[in-house]
Amino acid sequence: MEIVLASNNKHKVVELEYFINEMCRCHGLESIKVLTLSDIGFTDEIIEDGKTFEENALIKARAVAAKGYIGIADDSGLCVDALHGEPGVYSARYAGEPCDDAKNNALLLEKMADVPENERTAHFVSVIGLAYPNGDGFTVRGECPGKILFALRGNGGFGYDPLFLYEPYGKTYAEINAEEKNAISHRARAMRLFSEKFAKEIKNK
Ligand code: IMP
Repeated sequence: MEIVLASNNKHKVVELEYFINEMCRCHGLESIKVLTLSDIGFTDEIIEDGKTFEENALIKARAVAAKGYIGIADDSGLCVDALHGEPGVYSARYAGEPCDDAKNNALLLEKMADVPENERTAHFVSVIGLAYPNGDGFTVRGECPGKILFALRGNGGFGYDPLFLYEPYGKTYAEINAEEKNAISHRARAMRLFSEKFAKEIKNK
């Protein structure tokens, strides 16, 4: 079976294929091939104008499903409690277009300047949506709780990683390795939930 991830990010494809096929093995199912948009010659522009991560993931997955494929898409971001959920679905372009991690982090620090330590709670969200050509589909959500620091810490990762403290590790996302991140991250949690649900759906079809 083939499914199409609404992205051209090879790293995301490898990650998704790994989680799905691990789950397929557990359920005794045949392995699944994950294709990218360029693999199927998809060049349409997808306007992500949803107000929630769920809406955006489904907009992207449905754009692929409209071409006759099983479409999968993810949408993720950071939600800060003291900022009423900002930057949320605007995480990538918080400080404006084009997307700039350093500017986004600087803006977040500025907005959080007067927020005391005990009110700096936040969580990363990752939503994965699936759409079938017949219009059916579903979403799953993975979250990881943490706190926003007063200054950047760590050199790894991307995006808001250096400001996001994962308290059980006592480290930021930018200070942990890929294995540690895979054990707890919002994306890994969503991928596991997604793979489990999808494998069960295939089995029952
Ligand atoms: P996307 O939906 O995966 O493209 O993520 C949108 C934006 O959310 C990214 O550009 C980052 O700013 C932020 N983001 C999502 N996941 C992470 C993460 O694991 N670490 C840091 N930033 C993230």
